[in-house]
Amino acid sequence: MEVKNHRLVGDKVSFVQATKWNKTAEMKPDAIIIHYTAGASGAATVKLFSAASATTSAHMVVSEDGSVTQMVDFNRKAVHAGTSSYGGRSSYNNFSIGIEISNPGYLQKIDGKYYTWWEAKKEKKTATPESKVFVGKHRNSVTKMNYWYKYTDAQIQAVKEICIALCNAYPIKEILGHEEIAPGRKCDPGPAFPLDELRTEVLAKKNISINDLFAHAMEESAASALVLGKVTVKLNFRTEPSSNAALKSSPIPAGTFVYIVGEQGEWYNILREISGWIDKEFVEQDNSDSDYDGELLSDNAMLYSDEKKTKRLVSSLNKGVKFNILEQQENMFKIKAVVPGWASKKYITKQK
Ligand SMILES: [Zn+2]
Repeated sequence: MEVKNHRLVGDKVSFVQATKWNKTAEMKPDAIIIHYTAGASGAATVKLFSAASATTSAHMVVSEDGSVTQMVDFNRKAVHAGTSSYGGRSSYNNFSIGIEISNPGYLQKIDGKYYTWWEAKKEKKTATPESKVFVGKHRNSVTKMNYWYKYTDAQIQAVKEICIALCNAYPIKEILGHEEIAPGRKCDPGPAFPLDELRTEVLAKKNISINDLFAHAMEESAASALVLGKVTVKLNFRTEPSSNAALKSSPIPAGTFVYIVGEQGEWYNILREISGWIDKEFVEQDNSDSDYDGELLSDNAMLYSDEKKTKRLVSSLNKGVKFNILEQQENMFKIKAVVPGWASKKYITKQK
């Protein structure tokens, strides 16, 4: 395989344009991010990424037989990484090439049998053959799953060849798993994929110039233009911009960073992040590579301080709220949700 005009050329390589990608900005890739699709087949993922309704994409999809479908040019930004950071850099969509390997992902063990996430939901489940089950702990301790769907040898070989071709064409300095740039939130490609071996084989010989690193650090600092505020005292968080309004949640601790999204009189409309535990039954899981892992299905869901539901954290979480899953237990998810509300301007200082 080799790269010509920002496209992969090779025997089992084709191109199908994805729907969702950044059509304006050019990208200078220096990182590769490895994913699994959490889907049933490579063909299904290609269809998903090229559908009119697509919300995510990747530069390539690697099918079970090792064939590769490129879907976004390598000098364009695809939508695969979501909220991400690693080694002092963030927003990996801006400089990374995303490789999606077709693989169902983690498996659930029920009555001694193994099921993909979608089969586990069905009444009449079809089990995964044991020959396809990989048993292994995840590199991130927050990820508790121990059973994973095996990758095919053809996929592992194809990913390696792609990475070598990309390293020959671009100044690639990192090959990372989605699980490493978004730990807890994402667990792909998981322990069934030999990521460390791939890195050692492909990257070990490459040298990175200090100039490349510096150029990137400059671009990154220019890109962040969000208004961040820091709370200076323990501060009430309310549903409306009034000191008579109901409290939205427990007070915001001093020192917390919040995003300022609006203001009215003496009040700021802010977004604060709250972590807590929620019943799984209220959650629709999102296995795509969007910024969030789940969505709230009901207005009745409560957020609790721990999995034993010791204390309620928020007066109301609305249906449709999207969040990241940090940890999971039998019936509960630990999630991080962004909750909007109002707080007094006096006690929030804007950060540069
Ligand atoms: Zn991913």
